[in-house]
Amino acid sequence: MSRRQRNAGIAVAVLVAAALVAGFAFTFAPKAASTADGLAAKQLTFPLPENRRDGLRNSFHEKRGANSHEAVDIMAPRGTPVYAVEDGRVAKLFNSVPGGKTIYQFDPSGRFAYYYAHLDRYAAGLAEGKELRRGEIIGYVGSTGNAKPDAPHLHFAIFKLGPKREWWKGEAIDPYPYLANLAPSPG
Ligand SMILES: [Zn+2]
Repeated sequence: MSRRQRNAGIAVAVLVAAALVAGFAFTFAPKAASTADGLAAKQLTFPLPENRRDGLRNSFHEKRGANSHEAVDIMAPRGTPVYAVEDGRVAKLFNSVPGGKTIYQFDPSGRFAYYYAHLDRYAAGLAEGKELRRGEIIGYVGSTGNAKPDAPHLHFAIFKLGPKREWWKGEAIDPYPYLANLAPSPG
């Protein structure tokens, strides 16, 4: 075997080893963790006054009719202020049958959407395209949509947006771990 042949053999062996390592990493990479990549570092602000953390429980995986809930409900009296969990902008104000008065907020990177539903009303001056500051009041808790009239609450969800940044399409991320460890709200 010439030196050239031996070097070529070593190069092939290195390439095969690299391909194996890459294949292993690809197969076993924690995909769920990469979906929410960067979300924990944001230290989102709790979207309601601090005393609403009491009794917070995870309802992300519960069924709502034929669908998964894919959100967390935070009980609060009607009219309780709702705070923007992060800077960003209002992508859409939407009145839907299940959600009632809702806000879709995009984060500054445009990778995530925060969804606030069943609002009684929007904050004065709120409009699509408005730049939001973390902690700013964006609306008030209510029971619009399919919430029980005697159980007003904030339905809060987080979506990882697709490459087209469509507000109505996204992959739901369980917000509970973030809500449970969020930065204090202004209220
Ligand atoms: Zn809900």
